[in-house]
Amino acid sequence: MKRISWLAFPTLSLSVWASPAKRATWNPPSNLVQPLTQVWNHEVATYNMNFKNFGYDQLIAAKGTAKVCVRWESTTQTVTEAQRAQVQTAIQRSYKKWIDWFVGFDGFPYSSVPLSVVGWAVSNPSLLQGSTSGIDVYTNRDSGGIPECNPACGRFFHQDNNYSGCPGGAARHYDFSVWLTPGFGGGAGGDWGARIGTEYFMSNLNTENIHILLHELGHYFALDDFYDWTPTGVTNFIMLAGSATQITDFDGWMARDWWRHLKSRYGIAKEGANSLEIEGSQAANLTWVDQEF
Ligand SMILES: [Zn+2]
Repeated sequence: MKRISWLAFPTLSLSVWASPAKRATWNPPSNLVQPLTQVWNHEVATYNMNFKNFGYDQLIAAKGTAKVCVRWESTTQTVTEAQRAQVQTAIQRSYKKWIDWFVGFDGFPYSSVPLSVVGWAVSNPSLLQGSTSGIDVYTNRDSGGIPECNPACGRFFHQDNNYSGCPGGAARHYDFSVWLTPGFGGGAGGDWGARIGTEYFMSNLNTENIHILLHELGHYFALDDFYDWTPTGVTNFIMLAGSATQITDFDGWMARDWWRHLKSRYGIAKEGANSLEIEGSQAANLTWVDQEF
């Protein structure tokens, strides 16, 4: 019998850091059942469950793809073609770490959800060095004068998927945006996308787990913050800001809990979870703001 040398991994706990277990249905590890129930009950009590723009709604509407627009808020910093490729790779890698929890789970209909960066919003196109073929370059400004991706092309602004006002039509729409803000500490996330500091992100492009981005993408997938309470028995997970640097089993099962409750929206038969049929007015957006990493 082989023995594993635990001394080689003195700080790892396999039960916390394991990669997604390929369990086909809702069957979380026994130690996570109670905290998962607590989290779900809390979310049902505090969310508008009739909201229709969760990340799940978006990837289903986009038929298993994800298109992203980067909002480059610096007015002075240039970004090379190579850096833009790295930005796309970093967002792809981060997004996939959540998607990996859904692939093969409980009727999730895709074996992968390919993500591409389709647009960049900048204050001046000259900030984008090298070729920009294949991407849409936006010079729109929001009400505060900050570069923004063309609202006419954004899912957040067109949840009916009518992109007739987008110059390239639906084919050139984006599902969510990643805001890169100079000097921005912490992060923010929601159905509209994720906002993180330019310096933090650009200096971590090759980091396997860009933990603030992972946390904010958790919000994109409807996961909550835990500044005011914590569920029983779990102390380190990405959605408890500052307590973990990667998506843990608990995070993954929280996300799976959302999928199993939402999937009946998409005509996927439910098994073992009641569908969401709670009435409520549709909120304009979901936003969580984080300052405690
Ligand atoms: Zn948060």
